Amino acid sequence: MNTGDIYTANLSAEQREIREAIFQLCTRFDADYWLEKDRAGGFPGDFHMALAEAGWLGICIPQAYGGSGLGIADAAVMMQAVVETGAGFSGGSAVHMNIFGLNPVVVFGTEEQKHRMLPPLIAGKHRTCFVVTEPNTGLNTTQLKTRAVRDGDHYVVNGQKTFISTAQVAEKMLLLARTTPLEQVKNKTEGLTLFYTDFDRSRIEVREIEKMGRKAVDTNQLFIDNLRIPVEDRIGEEGKGFHYILHGMNAERILAAAETVGLGRAALKRAAQYANERIVFDRPIGKNQGVQHPLAERWMHLEAANLMVMQAAAKFDRGENCGVEANAAKYLGAAACWNACETAVLTHGGYGYAKEYHVERYLREAMIARIAPVSEQMIFCFVAEKVLGLPKSY
Ligand SMILES: Cc1cc2nc3c(=O)[nH]c(=O)nc-3n(C[C@H](O)[C@H](O)[C@H](O)COP(=O)(O)OP(=O)(O)OC[C@H]3O[C@@H](n4cnc5c(N)ncnc54)[C@H](O)[C@@H]3O)c2cc1C
Repeated sequence: MNTGDIYTANLSAEQREIREAIFQLCTRFDADYWLEKDRAGGFPGDFHMALAEAGWLGICIPQAYGGSGLGIADAAVMMQAVVETGAGFSGGSAVHMNIFGLNPVVVFGTEEQKHRMLPPLIAGKHRTCFVVTEPNTGLNTTQLKTRAVRDGDHYVVNGQKTFISTAQVAEKMLLLARTTPLEQVKNKTEGLTLFYTDFDRSRIEVREIEKMGRKAVDTNQLFIDNLRIPVEDRIGEEGKGFHYILHGMNAERILAAAETVGLGRAALKRAAQYANERIVFDRPIGKNQGVQHPLAERWMHLEAANLMVMQAAAKFDRGENCGVEANAAKYLGAAACWNACETAVLTHGGYGYAKEYHVERYLREAMIARIAPVSEQMIFCFVAEKVLGLPKSY
């Protein structure tokens, strides 16, 4: 597939270099590496460390704390390339949290916190997880039940969390907990507090959730029992945590959307190659329009989604409100990715269902993007309300 120019035409010279360097680095982690990770599980620590050693984990972190100080558009190009090399979401999710996750610390942390928290993350010494979702509140985040109660110079935390990725290996966590009971706040978005602190396994029980795909990057239930967090690990003011988390959400959606385009491209590349090589009825199956057309259509949808990704990223980097574009990019990317992966499996016929052809793994991973970090329905609700002026429905 001759798409090199098409994929880089709108990138800056620096972004092209980022893309090339990532493809180069990832040659050490080929499709068979990820296939084995998907079979056996186990965090891809060597891959995470390789990206850290090459300085990639600090791409969005200001230079004053050891990062590269680049924008979210540059990070989107980087994360898209990681996934597109064939690493899929197994590779993307292994480092995703490092790239955007500490945005609340960068924006709302004190100088002392930034110097303490950011360099070990960039160096790959600290892996971190994002601890927000709860079993009984789902997408209705303001209702979360985990409590943090002030006790002198500490907070004592109790509660349950679920679907927390990388908790099996993380040294640190970004945790959202309620400090003021819901019935005592004027607005339900108040009274939630954000912490960046040690993942203290003597106080947190971690149970892995067996899931459909992305086995290399674990996802877990957490049971938090009298966890003591020092006050100096609180980010910003008490009670403002929800606003701090929201601040980073558009960036996360943009990166997640860029990754979906990467996964869809990886799937279509394999499908086109197979369609050129597989001979049935004395000709390559790709000579049949019934095989060609779905692939061409999936490609167009994917690249249209990518335009929305880059538009959202450009607005974010200019400091403009990009909520609508970031959500739209996440929806469009996830849908195009899912369809591309499904078509890639079907193009392979029976072999599409065999693990050694890789595309069934991509299809299983693609489902994640339709669910997390925000569901399709919630994006429809957001666009209906914010763009079309319809009443808030939830
Ligand atoms: C692989 C994976 C990794 C994850 N990693 C993390 C992580 O690291 N950290 C973390 O905090 N979370 C993580 N999550 C959680 C993820 O963000 C949530 O699963 C997601 O936000 C949905 O929440 P829920 O599963 O509780 O769905 P629910 O809130 O229970 O919703 C269920 C369904 O109902 C729909 N729905 C609910 N209310 C409405 C409404 N008013 N109108 C229309 N539809 C509605 C939803 O759209 C959804 O389809 C992960 C999830 C997965 C699958």
